[in-house]
Amino acid sequence: MNAKASLLLIYTGGTIGMKKDPTEQTLKPFDFNQIMEEVPELKKFALKIDSYTFTPLIDSSDVEPALWQDLARLIESRYNDYDGFVVLHGTDTMAYSASMLSFMLHNLRKPVVFTGSQLPIGEPRTDGKENLVSSVEIAAAKDRNGNAMVPEVCICFHSLLLRGNRCIKTDATGFEAFASPNYPPLATAGIDIVYNTPYIRRPECDKPFEIHTKLDTRVAILRVHPGITEQVVKDTLLGDGSRAVIIESYGSGNAISKAWFTDIVAQADRRGKILVNVTQCNKGVVNMNLYATGMALKKVGVVSGKDITVESALSKLFHLMGESPNDAWVKARFEQDLMGEISE
Ligand code: ASP
Repeated sequence: MNAKASLLLIYTGGTIGMKKDPTEQTLKPFDFNQIMEEVPELKKFALKIDSYTFTPLIDSSDVEPALWQDLARLIESRYNDYDGFVVLHGTDTMAYSASMLSFMLHNLRKPVVFTGSQLPIGEPRTDGKENLVSSVEIAAAKDRNGNAMVPEVCICFHSLLLRGNRCIKTDATGFEAFASPNYPPLATAGIDIVYNTPYIRRPECDKPFEIHTKLDTRVAILRVHPGITEQVVKDTLLGDGSRAVIIESYGSGNAISKAWFTDIVAQADRRGKILVNVTQCNKGVVNMNLYATGMALKKVGVVSGKDITVESALSKLFHLMGESPNDAWVKARFEQDLMGEISE
């Protein structure tokens, strides 16, 4: 590790920095200095660590696009001052925020590591210490040439470093709370931190770092399920509030083959909705050529999400639709790999 490395620790809230309110018996955030007091191990690193605290601190269930925009602007304004960034964030929406930031931060050459915990950092059995210490070490790590080991937006949780836009929260209570079923871990933290170098993404060109903060969040999600009614499908696919709809399909991208369903999808397409197909399965890829029920969606203009997660599909649409009013461009870009979120 470079002895002079410097990090910015950004505290947004989440269980890691909460403690029980004695009157209400619910968890509430406490201030950043208390987190640092709980982790004296951080002083053992020869690092310069500064902090930035968001106000108000939030439970991540309250995350809104404004927080993502503020985070992107903060990282941009401090980009040249630090070697890496660690974002303390609640686990509930961490996969959404990490996905979103991956699309907002372009030509990133420094690590942006999201972490948090299942138990508050002051609790004796907390997972917060290990998560924070590993995140700090990874965010400061450089290769022989002085380049960041992991110049990506990622999530570090329970000994695993995962690509941010490939993650899902898979466990509400266990310490191994995140997984990236369609992409291998970028690193594993055992006795040593072992980097999975061939899978780490690096910017291909010398373009300068820049942020893209325009977001269009008019996206609805239709999760197909046996027994779904025609009216519910109509409300979701044809509703005025959305510009795009994610169809959460079965297995390899299959939906209901009945004419009423395909007709509504076709009608939505004619109304100019951007329709994308993302599988409900955690692992695997959408292939609309495999079954007639998938082909029916393809024929009426539904675009394949391939092996993207729902969290990532949502943020990719927010980003692309924010970039352009041109729906054909958004659809074409959606099927391309932008930030390592899909396998090609
Ligand atoms: N509700 C909390 C949050 O997402 C849960 C956590 O941090 O684990 O902020």
